Parts: sequence; structure tokens; C-alpha cells
Amino acid sequence: MKRLFLLFSIIHSLINSQIISKELVTKHLFTLSSDSMEGRKVGTRGIEKAAQYIEKEFERIGLDKFGQMQAYRQTFKNNGLTLFNLIGFLEGKSKKDELIIISAHYDHLGIKTNGVGDLIYNGANDNASGVTAVLALAEYFANNPYNERSIIFVAFTAEEIGLVGSNYFGKNINPEKIIAGVNIEMIGKESPFGPNTSWLTGFDRSDFGKIIQKNLEGTNYKVLPDPYVDFELFFRSDNASLARLGVPAHTFSTSPMDKDLDYHKVTDEAGTLDPFIISKSIRAIAIGIKSIVSGIDTPSRVVIQ
Ligand SMILES: [Zn+2]
Repeated sequence: MKRLFLLFSIIHSLINSQIISKELVTKHLFTLSSDSMEGRKVGTRGIEKAAQYIEKEFERIGLDKFGQMQAYRQTFKNNGLTLFNLIGFLEGKSKKDELIIISAHYDHLGIKTNGVGDLIYNGANDNASGVTAVLALAEYFANNPYNERSIIFVAFTAEEIGLVGSNYFGKNINPEKIIAGVNIEMIGKESPFGPNTSWLTGFDRSDFGKIIQKNLEGTNYKVLPDPYVDFELFFRSDNASLARLGVPAHTFSTSPMDKDLDYHKVTDEAGTLDPFIISKSIRAIAIGIKSIVSGIDTPSRVVIQ
């Protein structure tokens, strides 16, 4: 009965919530992928601006600092560059030491060094859309605190140069405490499975995906296994850094990888994406992970081989 009540209250809060609104999604998406962010390449003024925007949002939403950290920034050096992940924390109500990671990388490719016309790699789909989801979910959970488990919201740096930020994050946290990793990458375009769908990498490597599907039963949204098996996408996004440590960490995406002409092009701009579709996918992720966040379900540890 308690479980049924919880389910109703969650769905009720999602329906009534204007928190994951098209307007909020539009604001995050257009800000993070604007020309003034200069393509958010590591080591540039542009990524510093993006970091400051994310920090201000964490502050406005009311997220705490994680553990012993004095700031949202997890700063480190790599190959002469100063890099920083951004980490916000929402403490669980009863299972404080059980952690859920909700993440997306906020770096991108910067500015083209030669050519004419538009030279800025705005990275709207890749991955302002994912960071938009992290911020919107942070706001949603901060306002609907049914999280018995603690949630860590992370914007990873330096994904584009080899999952560097998420690797550093993984080395500085006890993976045994992480119940699940929810990574979000490129959710701005319609999925190859059609409207109201997204796909999940490494679907068969844990039962995380099955839990998501169960929680979405009765809605009009479906999460399906990654259709691009040959691309090995499970190992190509930040979830891999945690999955290698045994964490059931998977990436949600809607990207039509085989026919996305804007992928890693200067044409990856916010205007090519639909904020309403993005907001629907973000809502679906919130519903999909609800039983994990509220401590009812615990996904199996991931199988790498
Ligand atoms: Zn990406």
C-alpha cells in the first residue's frame, strides 16, 4: 500500500510539476550552447562560462556540496590543463550512504581554427541537452524529495578527449556505495524508434534497463536497448568510467547515430532541437529511475565481459 501511494504521489507530482518544463529546458539548452560559450572546449574561457552557469544553477536549486568539498568544483590537472567536474549533492532521507549518480558531460569541441562562416561547435545536442537534463532533474528532485537515497548530480569535463573527467571522478569515490549511474548523452533529436522513446547503452549488462521499463509501464514512453551495438557506445560515454568499477552505469540517448548529420559539426545548434521532446525524455528518466531513487529497487552490478 505504501508503495502504491508512493507511485501515485510521484506520478501526481510529475504531472503537476512545471519543474521539468519546456521553458526551463529551453533556457538551459540555449544558454549552454550559445555562441558566447565558444564551444566549451577544455582549457578555454568558454567552458569557464559554462561551468559558472552550472554552478549558479546548482546554487539556485539549493544543492549541497558533496562530502568534504568546499565548492561544487572538483578541480584537477591533466596534461597541463586545469580541469573541473561540477558536483551537486542532494542528501537521501534514510539511505544517505547509498548514492545515485545523475551525469552528463558539459565540454565540447570549441572553435574551428580555419574556415569561413560559422566556426563554433555549439554542441547543443552533444551535450548541452544532457546537461539540461541533469539540471532539470536536480531541480525536480530538490522540489520533490522522495529520494531515500542520496543523489549526486555531476557535469563531467573532458569527455571529448577521452572520458577524462569521469575517470577522475571514479577514482575519487567509493564505487561500492554507488547504486546506479544515470548518464545522459544527446537527447535532443528524435530517436530511431520514433516519438516518445529513447535507448539505453549496455542494456543486458545489468537489470537497470528492466527496472526502467517496469517503472515506465502504463506511460506512453519506452526505453529500448541501444540499437547501435557495433558502435560500442557503452564504452564511449562517461558511464563507462563507473561501469568499469562495477557500477550499473548506463547512458540514455535518443540520438539517431547512423544519420545525424550535425554530430560533431558546427551545425549542432539549439535551433535544430525540440525542447518539448527533450522535456518529455527528461520526465521519462525521472519516472524510470523513481524506484531506484526511492530505495525500492537496486539494480544488479554491471557485467563488463
Ligand atoms: Zn557527447
